[in-house]
Amino acid sequence: MAKRDYYEVLGVARGASDEELKKAYRRLAVKFHPDKNPGDKQAEESFKELGHAYEVLSDPQKRAAYDQFGHDAFDPRARARGGGGPAGGGFHDPFDIFREVFGGAGGGGGGSIFENLFGGGGQNPNGPQRGDDLRYDLEISLEESAHGVEKEITLNKPDKCEDCNGAGAEPGSRIKACGTCGGRGQVLTSRGIFSIAQTCPHCKGQGHILEKPCKTCHGEGKRQRSSKIKLRIPAGVETGTRLRSQGNGEAGFRGGPAGDLYVFLSVKEHEIFVREGDDLLCEVPVSFVQATLGAEIDVPTLEGQATVKIPAGTQPGTLLRLKARGMKNLQGYGQGDLLVRVQVEVPTHLNSAQKAKLQEYATLCDGKEAPLARGFFEKAKKFFK
Ligand SMILES: [Zn+2]
Ligand SMILES: [Zn+2]
Repeated sequence: MAKRDYYEVLGVARGASDEELKKAYRRLAVKFHPDKNPGDKQAEESFKELGHAYEVLSDPQKRAAYDQFGHDAFDPRARARGGGGPAGGGFHDPFDIFREVFGGAGGGGGGSIFENLFGGGGQNPNGPQRGDDLRYDLEISLEESAHGVEKEITLNKPDKCEDCNGAGAEPGSRIKACGTCGGRGQVLTSRGIFSIAQTCPHCKGQGHILEKPCKTCHGEGKRQRSSKIKLRIPAGVETGTRLRSQGNGEAGFRGGPAGDLYVFLSVKEHEIFVREGDDLLCEVPVSFVQATLGAEIDVPTLEGQATVKIPAGTQPGTLLRLKARGMKNLQGYGQGDLLVRVQVEVPTHLNSAQKAKLQEYATLCDGKEAPLARGFFEKAKKFFK
């Protein structure tokens, strides 16, 4: 059988952009997907052909080869004859191509992508419906975010009704398609020359009628219930981090999957540490004598006390860095540092003996006890002249 031109298969012009190719592929792949055409050999062939065409045309190298040599570019026999172009290799599984292109459409996790495309979404009110996603705001301490923590939260949310297994009907009773709307959940009414689609008043948009609604959930298939959910919070999370807890959202309906729970984290302000990126900042007051003569001081870290040497002559605002005593990086790229900012305390309420000693010190300095200040006032003098 002669192979069809790949541009023709996708129904695009030879100069089509990547975006146009993708759009054409998406449209046709949905049409020919075997899940939508069970047992249809022709559709299956079209789906395969479409995958090959998209694989070649979406790859700049393969597309160039195809433009030059046509199908021979990928035909090993033609290459053996010396007519073909660069190595074509085999084709990928057309289902892999499909998953690659539609990868972003679903929740990313388990389950068929196709379910996400065709199930739920209100297209078929009789089909399985995915439950809604839920949001939960959780505040944790800095220590918890530093080490990671397991939390159990209690959430009041709609869960699957166990008595009807989420179907909404009494066990053993029938679910009939709604006769008024033919199962579509919508009816058309005429207003002059317009037809307007409206929610079916008989089934209230459900598309079906429950012969005997479940007594427990009144046909809802769900029940409000408080559930305990365990959350693993990894080390390094910060305010604004969003965690996804798969399947812990609202229950699905008629066998549809549950939604997801999104946990929005905020980290409480700490009394001592301020987070800056993955580093922690901590201000430590020292006496002016310690700053002048040097000292060893104890500073707090997340793992307990650490001893830090303050060199003689340390100025206010000096930053001392303790390696790898900060926060763990959420993506696993190591650990931040602890930055100790030295605050020098100026003494107040001196008694007369202390004052006398400091006066004596100033005299001993011969008026040069503040070299920076001298330099500054000399500059300032020039400025005012
Ligand atoms: Zn109806
Ligand atoms: Zn029920």
